[in-house]
Amino acid sequence: MTTDVVIAGGGPNGLLLACELALAGVRPVVLERLPERPTAPKANGLVGRVVQALDYRGLYERFSGSNRPPVPVPGFQFGALPLDLSALDSNALYALPIPQRRTEELLEEHARELGAQIRRGHELTAVRQAADLVTIDVQSPHGHYELAAKFLVGADGAHSIVRKQCGIGFPGVTDHSFVGRSGQVTIHPPVAVLGTGELQVPGVGRFRPATFTRTEKGMFSYGMFQPGLYRVAVYEWAPSPLEDSTVMPLDELRSAVRRVIGGDVPMSEPTGGEPPALRRSAGANSRQADRYRHGRVFLAGDAAHVHSGVGGPGLNLGMQDVLNLGWKLAAAVNGWAPQGLLDTYQSERHPVGQRVIMHTRAQTALLSPGANITALRELFTELLREPSTVRHISDLMAGADIRYDTLTAGPAHAMAGRWMPDVALRTGSGSTRTAELLRPGRPVLLALTDRAGLADAAKEWSDRVDVITAATAEPPADVVLIRPDGYVAWATDTDTPSPADGLRHTLQTWFGDPA
Ligand SMILES: Cc1cc2nc3c(=O)[nH]c(=O)nc-3n(C[C@H](O)[C@H](O)[C@H](O)COP(=O)(O)OP(=O)(O)OC[C@H]3O[C@@H](n4cnc5c(N)ncnc54)[C@H](O)[C@@H]3O)c2cc1C
Repeated sequence: MTTDVVIAGGGPNGLLLACELALAGVRPVVLERLPERPTAPKANGLVGRVVQALDYRGLYERFSGSNRPPVPVPGFQFGALPLDLSALDSNALYALPIPQRRTEELLEEHARELGAQIRRGHELTAVRQAADLVTIDVQSPHGHYELAAKFLVGADGAHSIVRKQCGIGFPGVTDHSFVGRSGQVTIHPPVAVLGTGELQVPGVGRFRPATFTRTEKGMFSYGMFQPGLYRVAVYEWAPSPLEDSTVMPLDELRSAVRRVIGGDVPMSEPTGGEPPALRRSAGANSRQADRYRHGRVFLAGDAAHVHSGVGGPGLNLGMQDVLNLGWKLAAAVNGWAPQGLLDTYQSERHPVGQRVIMHTRAQTALLSPGANITALRELFTELLREPSTVRHISDLMAGADIRYDTLTAGPAHAMAGRWMPDVALRTGSGSTRTAELLRPGRPVLLALTDRAGLADAAKEWSDRVDVITAATAEPPADVVLIRPDGYVAWATDTDTPSPADGLRHTLQTWFGDPA
């Protein structure tokens, strides 16, 4: 059996990649070793630019149930310090509360609709690579088979077999200084304050959901995802290393909460039959693959990077890796990828992963116990009164401080390499917005002033690039060339000399030779 692309791993990142490839006409095969999706809860939601990126694919409505575009949150937290975003004119910290299981169900449904093949119970066991193809050994319920593919993507999670088989290093640190405990529980009144989601702990005080609380003993947080069902997480600094466990007794969670917040939270196993998902995780890893590409093999998501979950950055990072890789890989399969395009996946996304590891480690430091950290938090609190600092931190957490290399020799427009904002547009066929133009997953040349010469220059790429003329009250530039992942490849204003030459050069750099 031979196929174009095999994706190892049917988690959120593998499934989103399957959607992206299928949208571009490639029919990937997803191998997922588990016959059924696990019930243990993982991510509670998506935080950051990825929410808007899903809107740019028309998936936000399916995920949120709302037919309005996403709006940024007015406040967030950095290392359990409040981040007041209300003073900023705009910010990229969007939040979409959705359990990971639901995210995966929706992505799988969409991938299948688009024609991707998803094989559950099929485990990749080995990878061999030749110059023109990758051979994969698969163990399935019907026995062992080989699969040959032009490309393989390891989206097989933190313990990635693909990464190990390719000899890709995973350097970083494992911090054994703390232990996390979590579970899904019922919390009883009067501690559970009916109607508000808050907890009123006698002798301690009031806690709010979806908020981290640092104490001198550790860190406590919880959320309520359906009436009466709470997810509680508590972190303590461990005097001696402990083992990971998924069979932790509930009493261990109760005791850890008592030690950290100094009061009792009455918890019992969920009454609705949901799994208690009690779990002890000793320490945390901050690691990143030393390369994201090895010949015809790529890594994405947790296979490429692991870090603390503080602030919920995992899916924002992983899903945007996938949106970056998907169109490039599809271009290679469809035969128009210019030289070097596939290497820009590593050069663009590896530095973004480094920044996530940096800010999650910085937040872990701010959450640590001790008088020196308390002083550092006071200083940070002062700095966070400055709107420019709030903007810096919120852009960092949202993954919005990215400017990709434009691969042009001369000076680039200020928009080039940056995220294309979602602006309201009027075209000959009515009102629309940027997000809607990008839903087919194709590059878009968006002319916001009458520049017929530039639209003509793009004619030879019309099999790959959509040319759209529109009017807007808030033009970020006269003409913008937008990549399928929502980033601006090139832009021009009236004062740019010979814009048609620059446009043709950019079209060739990113989207290959003219037809
Ligand atoms: C408790 C918890 C809470 C979290 N909360 C958040 C949050 O709120 N927000 C957020 O953004 N992130 C959160 N995360 C992180 C997020 O869950 C991960 O970043 C995400 O699961 C990564 O997705 P992935 O597809 O890369 O990998 P995974 O979800 O690990 O999926 C990998 C898949 O590959 C399969 N697989 C593995 N090996 C093979 C093989 N050899 N062959 C075939 N299939 C294979 C696995 O069975 C699995 O289904 C949380 C994580 C945890 C554990």
